[in-house]
Amino acid sequence: MSNNEESKTSAVDLGPDGRKSDQDLECPCGTVLRGEDLGAVVEVAQSHAQEVHDMDLSREQAESMARPS
Ligand SMILES: [Zn+2]
Repeated sequence: MSNNEESKTSAVDLGPDGRKSDQDLECPCGTVLRGEDLGAVVEVAQSHAQEVHDMDLSREQAESMARPS
């Protein structure tokens, strides 16, 4: 006999208090880029600028464009 017991999944879906602030960066082309923190969105923006616009976006420039979402 097989024991087919349904176990409740206890999903803990609590974010850490206050630590996590997503960042948005709106490219002049209208694309909104998002990262889980400033460093992440800067990286996303830099690769977007490189791949889509074939331009180098400096870290400082990207940081100045980023906003908390
Ligand atoms: Zn763009």
